[in-house]
Amino acid sequence: MNIHEYQAKEILKKYNVAVPEGTAAFSVEEAVEAAEKLKEKGSSLFVLKAQIHAGGRGKGRTKKSGAKGVMLCKTVDEVRKGAEDLLGDTLVTIQTGEEGKQVQRLYVTDGVDIEKEFYVGVTLDRAKGMNVIMVSTEGGVEIEKVAEETPEKIVKEWVIPGHGLYPSQARRLAFALGLTGKAFKQGVAFIQTLYKAYDATDATIFEINPLVLTPNEEIIALDAKINFDDNALYRHPDIQELRDLSEENPFEVEAGKYNLNYIKLDGNVGCMVNGAGLAMATMDIIKLAGGDPANFLDVGGTANVETVKNGFRIILGDPNVTAILINIFGGIVRCDRVAGGVIEAVKDPEIADKVKNIPIIVRLQGTNAEEAKILIDKSGLNVTSAVLLKEAAEEVTKALAS
Ligand code: ADP
Ligand code: MG
Repeated sequence: MNIHEYQAKEILKKYNVAVPEGTAAFSVEEAVEAAEKLKEKGSSLFVLKAQIHAGGRGKGRTKKSGAKGVMLCKTVDEVRKGAEDLLGDTLVTIQTGEEGKQVQRLYVTDGVDIEKEFYVGVTLDRAKGMNVIMVSTEGGVEIEKVAEETPEKIVKEWVIPGHGLYPSQARRLAFALGLTGKAFKQGVAFIQTLYKAYDATDATIFEINPLVLTPNEEIIALDAKINFDDNALYRHPDIQELRDLSEENPFEVEAGKYNLNYIKLDGNVGCMVNGAGLAMATMDIIKLAGGDPANFLDVGGTANVETVKNGFRIILGDPNVTAILINIFGGIVRCDRVAGGVIEAVKDPEIADKVKNIPIIVRLQGTNAEEAKILIDKSGLNVTSAVLLKEAAEEVTKALAS
């Protein structure tokens, strides 16, 4: 699960990680109020930041007003003007794609004098089975680019989950950033508290870009991106509440309600499969046969009428879908039962209407596959059966071509 920058900053603050003062705003009035509050505390520079689940906001522009996703404002009036421009408009950044994301929330924060910008990130290194902390002196820019072009500029320390970070590791990382004196001490403390926060919240990514050094030798996080492990969210009801469904793909949210694992893709062949591995293989074979998968959809082990119906609803919600491939391996669940489920689902008036012009190819393999094929073939529905996956994929491609 992904959260907004202002929510990430609240979490960092709770764990004593240094962040500037700031307040979230959902309206122009709230943004103005937040700026006035900062002014009372002595701020003379405000930063107005669009809150969307994507980075690259500093270089991004909104579609209508052409406003920047991160604005430096000298006066409260500038904050007002900026908030008017941003709220409701669509911000396009390198990470949002062309369609952009609508700005519904803002963050008004203290403007910080920047001496130098760094990068620090914590994530899981799956290959090593350890957490990794990465720092770089090349902050403020796309870290992916640094990793590709000058990987030696990223310094890493690994931590065995549950063991905690050694102070010597935090010192090595702060040293790699070229910090000295007070800034070095602050840097060490920052890295230690950041790792603790990452560990305690069951996060999968903590990324601070930029981490900055101020002229007063303070070390402070100007941006924060946090992702959490969905499987651990049940341990953090307070974090779960931070979820912003409006930032997520509506089909994926809908699928989540039905307990279906669905990921939307760009192709036109809708897939419904039982098992994640089989779903991956199915997408591969569709590609091999010259098609393009519209989604990943794992309906899980049951594949009963209700799951199949829900699967259809989700797949058919995507207007790009022009053919559907159902690929089921009957192990515990028998193929004839799944075939019965498919037939019943396709007869459902709401689904029947939508699949009129969409060929459906069902490949059933495993227990009672033959019986299942006969059921489908005899159903009189616009459903083609296949036993071999290769055949099924070719049928789909043929259907698309006709
Ligand atoms: P994004 O990564 O989405 O572009 P950032 O929060 O990293 O957004 O902001 C982009 C740039 O804006 C930063 O690299 C920094 O130079 C500047 N910036 C962001 N927040 C502040 C702040 N509070 N004070 C001063 N400059 C800031
Ligand atoms: Mg950033």
